[in-house]
Amino acid sequence: VTEPLQLGLFGDSRRHVLNTPDYPEFRERLAAFDCRACGLWQGRTRLVVDRGNPGAGLLVVGEAPGEQEDLQGLAFVGRAGRLLDDLMASAGLDTRREMLITNVVKCRPPQNRVPSPEEARACLPFLRRQMELVRPSCVLLLGATAARHLFPLSVIGPLRDRVGTFFEDPDHPGVRFMLLYHPAYLLRDPRKKKDAWEHVLRFRDWWLSRGG
Ligand code: SF4
Repeated sequence: VTEPLQLGLFGDSRRHVLNTPDYPEFRERLAAFDCRACGLWQGRTRLVVDRGNPGAGLLVVGEAPGEQEDLQGLAFVGRAGRLLDDLMASAGLDTRREMLITNVVKCRPPQNRVPSPEEARACLPFLRRQMELVRPSCVLLLGATAARHLFPLSVIGPLRDRVGTFFEDPDHPGVRFMLLYHPAYLLRDPRKKKDAWEHVLRFRDWWLSRGG
């Protein structure tokens, strides 16, 4: 997510989605778009754009839609999404009103596998446009996939050292990033919940200190 999108590089139908001046229109066009830019289109029921409030200034980026997301057309509405809701609610934050939640890829990978670098690359223009339109002051990256596809290793460094800490990127002046454990990982390894909770509180304290 570096330079502004070069819309001339895309075909007419993708450009029609990307070249949208406001977020509600973008969301509507993307949700209705029969994108086939990578192979994930073959397994999707619905393309999943997001969930939440695009005006909140806080963007949360996960990996990919799962089964429930694919069926409902909304991001993070399955078990992992409920855990994210609970974690945020315990910290006093409402995932519907106080953040916009999306994913690196917008279609469900088969058996919920990790999206390939090619699939992530094909889908990244949509996330980049989301960031341009939403102009978040903070981006929470859920898990390694989100971090790896958004930042080169030279920026983010070893992920183990990065989780739970704020960092900035010269390509996004004024935006603070934080890498958090993906809630699906916390479901697999509940021992990490204590650390995850501390990370969420660290983010919450900073976020509220600047007015939310
Ligand atoms: S994952 Fe993204 S690039 Fe691939 S088909 Fe779906 S919307 Fe298009």
